[in-house]
Parts: sequence; structure tokens; C-alpha cells
Amino acid sequence: RQAKAGDDAVRAYVPAMGQMFKRRFELVTQFRHALDSGQVTVHYQPKVALPSREVVGVEALVRWRHPEYGPLDPDEFVPAVEATGLVDALTGFVMECSLVRVRQWLDRGLRLSAAVNLSVRNLADETFPDRVADALRRHDVPPRLLTFELTESGVMADPERSLPVLRRLHALGVVLAVDDFGTGYSSLAYLRQLPVDEVKIDKSFVLGMGTDLGDMAVVRSIVELGHSLGLTVVAEGVEDDAAREQLVGMGCDIAQGYLISRPLAEDRFEAWLRARTIRARGRHDEMVLTL
Ligand code: C2E
Ligand code: MG
Ligand code: MG
Ligand code: MG
Repeated sequence: RQAKAGDDAVRAYVPAMGQMFKRRFELVTQFRHALDSGQVTVHYQPKVALPSREVVGVEALVRWRHPEYGPLDPDEFVPAVEATGLVDALTGFVMECSLVRVRQWLDRGLRLSAAVNLSVRNLADETFPDRVADALRRHDVPPRLLTFELTESGVMADPERSLPVLRRLHALGVVLAVDDFGTGYSSLAYLRQLPVDEVKIDKSFVLGMGTDLGDMAVVRSIVELGHSLGLTVVAEGVEDDAAREQLVGMGCDIAQGYLISRPLAEDRFEAWLRARTIRARGRHDEMVLTL
């Protein structure tokens, strides 16, 4: 064996890897307890119609307040959880929380949908659509008010298994959205084959739009492509008025981003919503407008 200068780097690297695996392992083993003990919560981020600014729904985003590591973002634990069977419990938890909210809003005359992010594993699980149907029945929520967001890589990982699951979800009447569109191997041909209703433009393009003509061109073509396929087009990562105006000009249907609101804990989201709810003239329902 030849000892070379690179060994120093290796010596530093190996313990760092060990730490990473240790933490991943820890998080996965603690996740079940975290779910059961209230450390895991759901934050809600509004989605608004363009150009009306009417709130049409929310995206449900998971958060974990870890007793030792503090608040963890999904990117720090979702991939680890997704690699295990625990992702069923995660998705189930987020779906239950979301349906409770949607039901409560309906009871107040507000028709808002909730979007739940799915993992590859959910799409490979042929029992998943039955559990969704059961949850919708239990909460007495119309299927159109539940959206599932899936990534292209999630679907493409195993199309033979995911397509039947997607078709059954679609047949239930829930809305299916392709998330982070533009980052994977997106193609028109591929989008046409999926039973989807909505496409969400990845925030990297929306964030870059103001300074990068290439990003602007990507956003514009996704809006056009989406509309030519009869899909609703959502832009995520809308952080300023300039981006909003550009999206309105392109005919984008829905915006989500810090300009409207960050994802908020349940009580803070409810306060945000109440401050914006108005009773529309001539309608029985109420509506929520962001001004
Ligand atoms: P995503 O589904 O693409 O969610 C959008 C992410 O963009 C969220 O990050 C949100 O906080 C962030 N975002 C929204 N508006 C803006 C903006 O204007 N500017 C910027 N810079 N960022 C914005 P978050 O909450 O950290 O979630 C990250 C990812 O974790 C999500 O990406 C999703 O893939 C995954 N995730 C979150 N919750 C769940 C869940 O319950 N289940 C699963 N399987 N994955 C989840
Ligand atoms: Mg999403
Ligand atoms: Mg996204
Ligand atoms: Mg993402």
C-alpha cells in the first residue's frame, strides 16, 4: 500500500462520513417517536391565483423540532426517512393534518385545497390509493381539494409500479402535480403520458428569472407547454413583485413563494388567513384575498 499526501484528506473525510451516517441513522431511529410525541409538525404555505391574488390552497411542508439538533428542514431528514418504510407514516401524518385543515376551512365556508408531497415509496405502494380514499371519506373532504405533488425522478424511478398507483389516485379525483419541473429529464412526451393536472415550475428558474434570460425562457416555455397540455401551471419561489408581474404577463395560473408568505405553523397560518378573509358579495362562500 502506498502512503501519499491524499491520505490526510482521507483521514479527515472518513470520520466526517461516519458522522453523517451516524446522524442519518439516529434521525431514522428517532423519527417514529418524534411523530408520536409532537416534535413533527406541518407548516402551510399559501398558493394564490394570478392575477386575482385569491388564495386557492396551501402546500403542506413537514418540519421537525429535534430535541438535540433544533429545528430541522425537510432536506435534512426526509431523504433518510424516505429510504425506510417510515415514509408511509410521514405521508400519512401530513395527509391527515392537511385533511383536518381542509375540513375546518370548508366548515367556515372556505374552499381551499391542500397539497401533500409524495415519495417514490408511496408511488410503489399499491395499497396507498385505498388509504387515500379512506382518509377522504373519514374527513368528508371532496377529492378535488387534495393534491399530491410528485417529482419526475420519483415517477421515473419505477414507472411500471408508479403509473398504476398514479392512475388509481387520479381516478379517485385527487389532483396530481409534477413538482420541481424542469430539473429532471422533463420532456413533453413524458408529461403527456402521466395522468397529471398541474405542473410546478422549479423555484430555481423562478428565482433566476430577474437576472437570467435563460431562466426566463425556461419559465415561459414551461407555462406554454403546460397550457398546451391543458395543465394548471404553478410557479414556486415567487419572492418579489417583479417576478409576480412577469408571471402574470406569461399567463401563469398560480404563484407560491415568500412574496405571498413563508410556510407558517398552523396557528400562524390561521391568523394569516383570517386577516385576509372577506365575504364576497353575492356569494355564500367566503374568499381569501392577499393585497
Ligand atoms: P418542494 O415540495 O419543492 O417545496 C417547496 C420548497 O420551497 C419548500 O422548502 C418551501 O419552503 C420553499 N420555498 C417556498 N417559497 C419559496 C421562496 O419564495 N423562496 C425560496 N428560496 N424557497 C421557497 P422546504 O419546506 O424546506 O421543503 C423542501 C422539500 O422537502 C420540498 O420541496 C419537498 O420536496 C420536501 N418535503 C417537504 N415536506 C415534505 C413531506 O411532507 N413529505 C415529503 N416526502 N417531502 C417533503
Ligand atoms: Mg412540493
Ligand atoms: Mg418544488
Ligand atoms: Mg424541492
